[in-house]
Amino acid sequence: MTLESGRPPRVLIVEDEVSFVEALRSGLRREGFALDVARDGREALERFATCQPDVILLDVMLPRISGLDVCREIRSTSHVPIIMVSARGEEIDTVVGLEVGADDYVSKPYRFRELVARIRALLRRSQAAESERRNTECPSQEVLEAGEVRMDTGAHEVKIRGECVQMPMKEFELLRVLLEQAGRVISREDLFEEVWGFDYLGDSKTLDSHIRRLRQKVETDPSSPRCIVTIRGAGYKYAIPELAEARGGDA
Ligand code: CA
Repeated sequence: MTLESGRPPRVLIVEDEVSFVEALRSGLRREGFALDVARDGREALERFATCQPDVILLDVMLPRISGLDVCREIRSTSHVPIIMVSARGEEIDTVVGLEVGADDYVSKPYRFRELVARIRALLRRSQAAESERRNTECPSQEVLEAGEVRMDTGAHEVKIRGECVQMPMKEFELLRVLLEQAGRVISREDLFEEVWGFDYLGDSKTLDSHIRRLRQKVETDPSSPRCIVTIRGAGYKYAIPELAEARGGDA
């Protein structure tokens, strides 16, 4: 597999166990990947800044800075695909990993073929997303507005009641999907797939907690949301205030 630019995809392996590093290094090299290795969380952040990986394989339990914190930190600035690797029996489950912005999961011991298949699937998806971002550079599509919320997707900026609000990547993506389809009900499954990129059949707490955090930022009274509303049994809807008012309402 090569990227559009013709170069081999670069994998940043973040792993402190030497035996795993060696196995991955030789296996992935045989599969045609370029590699970088970091042995702890701090080194991972340094490497990430300099080597520009196309995908990151990130062990959860790392010296110095944990894999979860590394993931959170990278996710605040980058869409790079991240696969979390956890040891069997570690109590860090998929929910926590998805919370901090990981794209996929494997637990040790994993089958190498399966890992390679997941890396390739993520690369394909991120390339598709990247070209979609390039193709939608028409300015009129870059600004989404509803009521007191204004999102500039090109500049990755959200203003709520005139104030700039910092938003982690997945919250930003979730709000973007809601705004793009403002006034329409979106099912939980569709929202999850749009934002996290795959069907997730497990616990749905991740979506709930992201919705909760968005409401804290968007709603004037998060305990009785009027923008991001729950449609029972159906999903969520971004309510367009103009329509609610036109209907005469305090609805
Ligand atoms: Ca480890």
